[in-house]
Amino acid sequence: MKKKVLSPEDLSMATRAIHGRQLCAYQGPVATPIVQTSTYRFADSGDAVRYARGDRDVYVYTRYHNPTVHEAEERLALIMGAEKALLFSSGMAAITSAILAIAKAGDEIISTSALYGGTYRFFRDILPNHQIAVRYIEPDAIGNLPGMVTPRTRLVYLETPTNPTLGIVDIQALVRATRKAEKRTGSRIAVMADNTFATSLNQDPFAFGVDIIVESATKYLGGHTDIMAGVVGGTMEYVNQVHTQLKYYGGCADPFAAYLLVRSLKTFELRVQRQTENAFALARFLEGHKNVLRVLYPGLRSHPQHAIARTQMMGFGGMVTIEVKKGTKGAVRVCDALRIAVNAMSLGGVETLVSIPVYSSHINMTGDELRTQGVTPGMIRISVGVEGIEDLKRDFDQALALL
Ligand code: PLP
Repeated sequence: MKKKVLSPEDLSMATRAIHGRQLCAYQGPVATPIVQTSTYRFADSGDAVRYARGDRDVYVYTRYHNPTVHEAEERLALIMGAEKALLFSSGMAAITSAILAIAKAGDEIISTSALYGGTYRFFRDILPNHQIAVRYIEPDAIGNLPGMVTPRTRLVYLETPTNPTLGIVDIQALVRATRKAEKRTGSRIAVMADNTFATSLNQDPFAFGVDIIVESATKYLGGHTDIMAGVVGGTMEYVNQVHTQLKYYGGCADPFAAYLLVRSLKTFELRVQRQTENAFALARFLEGHKNVLRVLYPGLRSHPQHAIARTQMMGFGGMVTIEVKKGTKGAVRVCDALRIAVNAMSLGGVETLVSIPVYSSHINMTGDELRTQGVTPGMIRISVGVEGIEDLKRDFDQALALL
């Protein structure tokens, strides 16, 4: 019988993340070499011409391409199930370049309303300077989308679970409504999802018809709170257009950050599985705590969109948001008293982090904006790490006891 050749696409996520496309008897280092250079020596002057004519084997300049960055991109594409992935210097570099590859002056974007603060401010403060308008849709009113679409609509943007309220957007319903609207206008509308909170381990937006995934690799993909990076995944044709933005806006990843990312991806599945288990256990514990008014976690039956989360998430992720007694004062008291959980911005690392949204991601927003986003003063966002779960419960218990 003929032996079947292994293809990375047929392997589990853990195997793909560890081995990438290197399923052959190769010689040399097992760890990915760091090609820490800004430029490359040509074999002869003809190389410059060969590069200009599209020869992918000729490296010319690290802002355009770099072997270490390329290795990270191959593994990210395999993890995400994308034809191609592109690595950036941060999540925001990835998101802004991905959007500007699609939307041009005069175009319109429709976005779900609860967004990471940086993305929201980019939509509010920067896109108007490019004559790109953004309109918002509530996740419980997706049926209104076809009526909002005009011939100028180029992009539907979504984030789920949302930051920091962990609201769930029905991905399939949003994609269906977009395709329906496309038939009316006759123009193509791309659907882009920020998958940072769930990651491809817990949610596969491509399976529901999303065209492009953007993700801050600073978070779960990096996982050790030591790099900034972002990724865009999608079809070859689209990601090549994003590459043009990357070249000229200059948001390229550094080779050393790419190396750290490749190393981190080897434990991506292990880490995120443990974070997801810990988050579920901590959410259940906090739900029963007398000083916690509300726990928002998509895995809990009490979560308003639990039923949707169950249909589109393979796991409910590592993020938990709670609302404590005594508003912002209470939130500050708890965050300052925690001993294991670290009071710091960001998320997705092996260590548990807490932050107060009205002091961090949602600072300087008006009362109306906060209400629209469902953010309240007593909220604490918890990015659950991989510590021992009993230690985390004890830590939150002793801090909450001070209220
Ligand atoms: N998307 C989400 C959901 C985030 O939480 C963040 C950062 O916190 C970003 C995007 C931006 O990523 P970065 O900080 O890597 O630019």
